[in-house]
Amino acid sequence: MKVVALRCITCGSSYSPEELDYTCPRCGPRRGTLEVLYDYSKIRRGFTRESLKKRSQNYTIWRYLPILPVEEEGQRYIQPLRVGWTPLYRFEQLARKYGVRELYLKDDGVNPTASYKDRASALVVIKAQEKNKKIITCASTGNAASSLAGFAANTALTTIIFVPKSAPAAKLAQLLIYGAKVLAVEGSYDQAYDLCLEAAERYGWYNRSAAINPYLVEGKKTGALEIAEQLDWEVPDLVLVPVGDGSVISGIYKGFHDLLELGFIAGIPKIIGVQAEGASPIKRAFERYDGNEVIIEDQEAKTLADSIAVGKPRDIVKAVKYVSAAKGSFISVSDQEILRAIGELARRTGIFAEPAAAAAYAGFRALAEQGRLSKSDRVVIMITGSGLKDIAAAREAAEVKEPYTIGASLDEVERALKGLGLAP
Ligand SMILES: *Cc1c(COP(=O)(O)O)cnc(C)c1O
Ligand SMILES: [Zn+2]
Repeated sequence: MKVVALRCITCGSSYSPEELDYTCPRCGPRRGTLEVLYDYSKIRRGFTRESLKKRSQNYTIWRYLPILPVEEEGQRYIQPLRVGWTPLYRFEQLARKYGVRELYLKDDGVNPTASYKDRASALVVIKAQEKNKKIITCASTGNAASSLAGFAANTALTTIIFVPKSAPAAKLAQLLIYGAKVLAVEGSYDQAYDLCLEAAERYGWYNRSAAINPYLVEGKKTGALEIAEQLDWEVPDLVLVPVGDGSVISGIYKGFHDLLELGFIAGIPKIIGVQAEGASPIKRAFERYDGNEVIIEDQEAKTLADSIAVGKPRDIVKAVKYVSAAKGSFISVSDQEILRAIGELARRTGIFAEPAAAAAYAGFRALAEQGRLSKSDRVVIMITGSGLKDIAAAREAAEVKEPYTIGASLDEVERALKGLGLAP
């Protein structure tokens, strides 16, 4: 067995992976989230930078199979959909504009269902089948659910989804077309989450909801593994990550942590969490954290960035402890700054990001404005979801809201060109 134990992030108790599916019974579902532990010295023997180089046929998350929690028997459940090894684009003009040495954007909008969540769903549909589950469920602001539905499509699993009724239309359309059973809850994501948890317990469904399922962070760590390999094992100085429940950022830390344990890299980058001003309980907990207990104070979430509209974050303990271990920090951005970031990203890089993903870029701009970046910094920004997921927000973000409507004649073209200031 590769996975030697599941360890509670709060009390440190260890459990065997056969004994437990979700959280530490002593600390409960909120504080008792589990870390997946490996036998690193054993893995180190067969898994090296050189052995990775030889996997030149496999540019997906599965090139990192030796440090993913899938045992021999589970490998037959790996889906053909191509997940991960997303592009890490370098933008030189933008780096100059903001005064940093190097600027990279990791574009996870190109995953099969167009968000970072595919990394976790690809893994968890395997766990569900290893555990002989028939039904898998998930509460989600939209992306985790549509990703689960997509990765369950080619399996015998039935997918039952809890989303807030306000989820963007594109995410709902994805769910329905993949054939998931969709329960649109009249309430917030935080309410949908609690409802899903209760239903899963009552009916014995396998639960993919954020944080309580320890394998999700293992899927979400693959973004960090890729960044390190794409930069030839010279890790960046800063990685900016948008934060809702806190699982993606925990995954980014865990990925670098595993690479450090295995001797692939020399250190862990500073990890910067970016939250929306109207939904920033993890930022507040981080600022109060003194190395002892994480103080949790929930709030009512209010932001247009639906994927991070989380007032009761489920991976708050891990996120606070991990970012602290990475000597990182948290920053918050307003909805206005997020909208501005969507537009600037699209116009200057060609990357079209959904609001939560653009929040990470807005956080980068805010750091620059506050003079918190250094000329020698090498920065990576995680773009976690595609802009096509939320067209309404994009229309709001665009400087020009409407196209120029014309009649079907060259005279009309001429009139339009004048109007657009492009008169020949
Ligand atoms: C889920 C999600 C996030 C935040 O991840 P958490 O684990 O909830 O912190 C950020 N961006 C996008 C696009 C997401 O779907
Ligand atoms: Zn515990």
